[in-house]
Amino acid sequence: MRIVQLRQRLHDLGAKPCHEDRLLRGWSQVGSYDRVHSPAESFFPLALRNELPAIEAELSGLARLCSEHPAGKGVARLLVELNDGQMVESVLLPRGGLCVSTQVGCAVGCVFCMSGRAGLLRQLGSAEIVAQVVLARKRRAVSKVVFMGMGEPAHNLDNVLEAIQLLGTQGNIGHKNLVLSTVGDLRVFERLMDADYPSGSNPLQLPLVRGRAESAPPPKEQLAIRLSCHKTTAKSLVMTRGGGEGLGREDEREKQSSIPAVKPALALSLHTTDAALRAKLLPRAPQIAIEELVEHAEAYARATSYPVQYQWTLIEGVNDSDAELERIAQLLSGKYAVMNFIPFNAVDGLAYRRPSAERTALMAHSLNRLGILARIRDSAGQEIEGACGQLRARAAKAK
Ligand code: SF4
Repeated sequence: MRIVQLRQRLHDLGAKPCHEDRLLRGWSQVGSYDRVHSPAESFFPLALRNELPAIEAELSGLARLCSEHPAGKGVARLLVELNDGQMVESVLLPRGGLCVSTQVGCAVGCVFCMSGRAGLLRQLGSAEIVAQVVLARKRRAVSKVVFMGMGEPAHNLDNVLEAIQLLGTQGNIGHKNLVLSTVGDLRVFERLMDADYPSGSNPLQLPLVRGRAESAPPPKEQLAIRLSCHKTTAKSLVMTRGGGEGLGREDEREKQSSIPAVKPALALSLHTTDAALRAKLLPRAPQIAIEELVEHAEAYARATSYPVQYQWTLIEGVNDSDAELERIAQLLSGKYAVMNFIPFNAVDGLAYRRPSAERTALMAHSLNRLGILARIRDSAGQEIEGACGQLRARAAKAK
């Protein structure tokens, strides 16, 4: 299910944007629909109230917990069943983090990752992506969401951006705490650099009203109408333009369309500076020159003021050489970037090995000495790329 479809359904039940907003807030934050002086019972239109139990049942069926696997240090892997029986993985991370999946399977086929083994099975709808956050929030607080689980977000961009927009607004997650990860795809850079995300994610969205500065105070009449929506009661609903409920529809649409696109932080899976090796490690990633990828990522980092997080799954004898270190130093010198080294996580049936802890530490230390911020991340912990897909593969085998 897509959020755009959910919005349309609410709209068909007589919901105005302020009703949608309250329902989406309640759902995504696992909170109440009631407000002081404005219980849901008198706030939502009757048709929506009648349909609410069915909608809630449908939403909670989008992502169900199949099993939970503690992995130490505050980390737990969740095997999540979708409503058609497909499985994905989410990972609870320390300090309120959550890693979510964006596809069932993955078409990129990175040689060190289980998710890509069987190729892409299907896309996740934006509501299914948000439902993973809802599921996690029923277990503990979530204040950061990284899109680094199963799937390549660039291959499901409309749904991923729609989920990001919801999480960064009604979902109450800080924009820099939403981290979109990609192997590097021009479509991602284009869409992220676009101020308005022309994704059509809101069917009620009208074009921005041009010619009026966003900061300009709204005309008095609109201000009164907006105030009435913010503290809508059964009574105040009547006191609006044209005798309609809440904000006039066009005012509501205009208000929604003026909400700027949520800009997530960006993580770029590099893994090597050698183009030929990268084509082997990430066989179906777009063939874009590494320098060009870094240029695009840098432009976005400067535009948003969030550093790019470069992801590097460290594999012994493959991409842990001194030559790689030198090239990383050249590539990232002066860039607004953080290098995350993620020592390879053993995967059944793969011959790759994890470098020693000493080698990993030396690599990070060498870059830090050159002024390039480098960190070591545990694949079972902070960044799980390459480690994802193993639970699902095991569950599929057992079926
Ligand atoms: S590492 Fe990420 S992009 Fe590569 S196959 Fe796995 S899920 Fe896909």
